Amino acid sequence: MNTQTNDVELHPNDAPSIVRSNMIRCRTYTPYCGDARTKKDGNLVCSGPRTYWSKVHNQMKCPECAWITEFPDDFIARYKEAHNIK
Ligand SMILES: [Zn+2]
Repeated sequence: MNTQTNDVELHPNDAPSIVRSNMIRCRTYTPYCGDARTKKDGNLVCSGPRTYWSKVHNQMKCPECAWITEFPDDFIARYKEAHNIK
């Protein structure tokens, strides 16, 4: 697994957040699905895997239940710049 990190200076809005800090500093880090506790017909709809970068949505997306993160645009811009994502 690629654990390469960078030492980009964190924006004041990102530094207090472990998730945001990790995302900026480590290309391979992605948050877990935020919908993992949602139930449908009494059953969990998702086992809560890590999300992946969705170019289409410009956010992170869950591969199981299609949940999408709601990071603000300014953070997403910093994230993409940190990892040279076009
Ligand atoms: Zn999910």
